[in-house]
Amino acid sequence: MKVFKFGGASVKDAAGVRNVAKILGMYKDENILTVVSAMGKTTNMLEKVAEAFYHKNADVAEQIEPIRNYHLAIMNELFSNKNHPVFDIINNVFAELEWATDGEPTKSYDFEYDQIVSIGEVIATRIVSAYLNETGLQNLWLDARDYISTDDTWRNAAVNWELTENNVQQNLVPLFSKSKTKLAITQGFIGVTSENYTTTLGREGSDFTAAIFAHTLPASDVTIWKDVPGVLNADPKWFDDTVLLDKISYRDAIELAWFGTSVIHPKTIQPLQNKNIPLYVKSFIEPDKSGTIVSNTENPQQIPSFIYRMNQVLISIMSKDFSFIVEKNLMEIFKSFSEAGIKINIMQNTAISFSVSVDDDKYKIPVLIALLQKDFKVAYNSGLELITVRNYNHQTIERVTINTEVLLELKSRKTVQMLVKNLG
Ligand code: ASP
Ligand code: MG
Repeated sequence: MKVFKFGGASVKDAAGVRNVAKILGMYKDENILTVVSAMGKTTNMLEKVAEAFYHKNADVAEQIEPIRNYHLAIMNELFSNKNHPVFDIINNVFAELEWATDGEPTKSYDFEYDQIVSIGEVIATRIVSAYLNETGLQNLWLDARDYISTDDTWRNAAVNWELTENNVQQNLVPLFSKSKTKLAITQGFIGVTSENYTTTLGREGSDFTAAIFAHTLPASDVTIWKDVPGVLNADPKWFDDTVLLDKISYRDAIELAWFGTSVIHPKTIQPLQNKNIPLYVKSFIEPDKSGTIVSNTENPQQIPSFIYRMNQVLISIMSKDFSFIVEKNLMEIFKSFSEAGIKINIMQNTAISFSVSVDDDKYKIPVLIALLQKDFKVAYNSGLELITVRNYNHQTIERVTINTEVLLELKSRKTVQMLVKNLG
């Protein structure tokens, strides 16, 4: 059994959906569980619906309309029969979205966010599944919430592995072994609490969903289909001489993903590594090409990889009375980060200061600053870039720091990280 994952870019329009069908057609004889995420930029659009509903900064119906039109246009292109049941199905999903955003919010923003934003994957999978059935690729549409159990950490839910494994073993495995099902389509990114509320696993979390299914089935391998040929040593947005890494270790993959390579979600690697399940990263544009394989290999190639994280904020935390920043205040500082839900990308300490760089977030940063200011002096500097080079050498560092001011630098044997201000 294989697990495939198609992201939003692969199904952003009717041609994309047809292309997914073509790729699945190439694997007709295999048992495949296919995870699909929301089409194109739907998740961003649904985030605006959630904001409009909760913060009342815009009209909810006005935010929903373009999402409906976008999907209807895709369906109109895919289904010539306008009485096809998929139109009713999608209509009902939009009715659910309208109910979810009717009246006043009852719980936290993060709770409402999950109920609203999760709908993007439901719509996408309904359309893709119906189209595949229509074109002769018989498949089952599965609700990922019947399998992926989580806690109620809204927007960043933690998987209940034991329950999920039970669900998968008892209810999903038999679908493939007992019936004629060879292909199933399900959502990435979403899960369910024990109270039956929808959760999400964090932005771009569909890769992680593929890994969860792969781990619990267990699958023979996972393929993430991307708009790039595989894992490159740099983002082609910034470099024109990128190199495809055809074979990388789980260790390198998890480090690259953690530092910010957007090709693989960082949570994807652990569930696969734990069961020694290989991960392929392949191009949905050139599906015959071999792409990258992430597996339990020693890394013979030491090609430098470059990762840029934009929109960084440098936060410097100092004691108010010139006392040392030591373990006791560090404990307080870390607690504030954890409470504000902010991930530290790089950190450094001196006698009386502690500096970190984090992703900019207009909601979370002010909460963090307020928490820290209770006990510390806080300074911050935004609009910075964090550059990570794995397998670095002298020239690579020079290459990336041209025209920049380096504010923080951290080096280990394999990796250098530099927080820079771009002067160019
Ligand atoms: N649709 C979700 C997002 O855009 C999940 C994913 O694409 O992986 O964040
Ligand atoms: Mg996406």
